[in-house]
Amino acid sequence: MNEEIATNGNATETNETENNLLELAKSNPDGISNDDIKRHMPDIPLTEITAIINKCLKNGIFDLFKTKDNLLYKYKDPSKKTMVKGADAEEKLVYKIIEEAGNKGIWIRDIRFGSNLNMTQLNKVLKSLETKKLIKCVKSVTASKKKVYMLFDLEPDSSVTGGAWYQDQDFESEFVDVLNQQCHRFLVEKLEEANTKSNGPLLARNRSYATANDVHKFISELGISKVSLTVEDIESILYTVVLDNNAERIVATNGSYVYKAVNRFLPSAGIVKTTCGICPVANRCAETGLINPKACSYFTDWLIQ
Ligand code: SF4
Repeated sequence: MNEEIATNGNATETNETENNLLELAKSNPDGISNDDIKRHMPDIPLTEITAIINKCLKNGIFDLFKTKDNLLYKYKDPSKKTMVKGADAEEKLVYKIIEEAGNKGIWIRDIRFGSNLNMTQLNKVLKSLETKKLIKCVKSVTASKKKVYMLFDLEPDSSVTGGAWYQDQDFESEFVDVLNQQCHRFLVEKLEEANTKSNGPLLARNRSYATANDVHKFISELGISKVSLTVEDIESILYTVVLDNNAERIVATNGSYVYKAVNRFLPSAGIVKTTCGICPVANRCAETGLINPKACSYFTDWLIQ
């Protein structure tokens, strides 16, 4: 595991597991080992833990230390990065404004208003801070031409990156479709299992419901996502399954949603989709008489469509 952690993974999304891991590291200032992590988070898949640790190492949130026979991860607060020596007053001012914006970043226009620097001066300061790797420029998913600045070590908020469903500002519809299908597959399998293993329809119905946590665990174990998905991400996908009429959701006693696959209605017969299928005077329509197919403009229009 040690080597894997030191070399693999590229997770980018903050999630519950990540928060738990960060809390564990914060409460152990001397560092945590892989064994500590396993002991505190026995149910989390190794791949997920590995991805989070690599992300923390990459973003400078963790420092890696080697002891005699172990690797230790030490928490390093990214917000406490100090300005390099030699920064001038303008750089300090701009840095402070950007620091206050946190991981949501700040637009260059707002930095200009906050600092009272003209555009030429400001561009020079920003360039200098970027070169020193104290700040970085991130494209906002809400507007392709809008760039926001934030401290170099911060992970951009999902409101800036668009979250797990965006890659370089592009919405990954294929990824969402795959997740939608896999979530639906999990619910269908759960439904089938409940139907075959339960005695009686009520028990089968109760057993066929799954929580977002159940589906999240299944998706994490499948390993189809390069980014670490949160339970909230999975809730969003499950909602698309519900909107596709492939699942229903109800509120459980604890207030959270539970999901169950539903059998789709049979497709309507072709005749129902014709004009005659919904015609209010169909019972009076005949070959002879005033109401007849030859004289019917609705029927003619439908035929030549
Ligand atoms: S032919 Fe026209 S009038 Fe007759 S049933 Fe069809 S739609 Fe109705």
